[in-house]
Amino acid sequence: MAVVGWIGLGNMGGSMSANLAKAGHDVRGFDLNPAAVAAAEAGGVKPVRSIAEAVDGADVVFTMLPKGDHAKAVYLGEGGVLAHADTATLLVDSSTIDIASAQELHDAAAAAGFRFVDAPVSGGMSGAKAGTLTFMVGGEEGAVADATGYIGPMASNIIPTGGATTGQAAKICNNLMLFINLASTAEGAVLADRLGLDKQVFWDIASVSSGDSWALRTWYPVPGVVSTAASNNDFAPTFTTELANKDIGLAISAAEDTGTPLEIGRHVQQLFQQLIDAGESGKDCSMIIKLVDGSLETSN
Ligand code: NAD
Repeated sequence: MAVVGWIGLGNMGGSMSANLAKAGHDVRGFDLNPAAVAAAEAGGVKPVRSIAEAVDGADVVFTMLPKGDHAKAVYLGEGGVLAHADTATLLVDSSTIDIASAQELHDAAAAAGFRFVDAPVSGGMSGAKAGTLTFMVGGEEGAVADATGYIGPMASNIIPTGGATTGQAAKICNNLMLFINLASTAEGAVLADRLGLDKQVFWDIASVSSGDSWALRTWYPVPGVVSTAASNNDFAPTFTTELANKDIGLAISAAEDTGTPLEIGRHVQQLFQQLIDAGESGKDCSMIIKLVDGSLETSN
């Protein structure tokens, strides 16, 4: 069994690290938010008080942080991973971050003598809990193979994507499609309701028809249809609007770099921006349905 350092115990990292603990690994978890640490402790993760403590003696360190700036602070900062870990420790960043930041982490890790992979995930909070995430892993072949050995208890699919930053590239494109699907699901759900269809009957049809998608099956934005959906809990976040806006922004900036027109993606980003402007950045991104049914009440 391995010693695992885990940094970032939020909606995703809390459950992912708990699955490694359940698999018998000695997992030491750190987060700035005491409530996140307490929840992870209940899942079998040993709480520690600093990054230095989390990485001390670790075979592998995982990070699951919101954005590129958080990941850079955690790896490159004074009290950070590169300053405190042993170079024998394998470093795995599972956060979804921009390609430039991911490249910076690969370069800094290599310059300091570490093996580092970018390994973002898909599958949402429900997949994190169930240990059924898809990992897309980019980096040097040997490091990717070693990371795969640790990822098993958290994943149904582990897919090597190629060299440094290709995991992030795959994730950014996947999430562009996810959020477009989410917006289309919200529009279909509201229109179905207004045409007099029962919500469950319409979902039963769409989920076995050509309107099907992961967003429909996991995040259906109408309450009382799908058990994993945030719509059942007044849109308490499983994936915040702020993070969704970040992800679609990563796709738009990658599109600008490559001269790719993303007309639908840009429109969906405007919808997330409307939710953020209305003071709902911390709510679940499936709240986008309120822009379709007209029920958004601003909280700022
Ligand atoms: P979250 O905000 O719930 O969790 C992030 C955690 O990182 C927080 O608990 C925060 O306190 C902690 N953190 C921030 N800076 C830190 C630091 N310097 N040191 C220690 N801890 C720090 O976010 P999440 O939903 O778990 O998402 C994490 C990443 O995974 C994001 O990049 C997101 O885009 C991606 N992701 C999320 C989902 C989802 O459904 N929520 C799915 C796939 C990928």
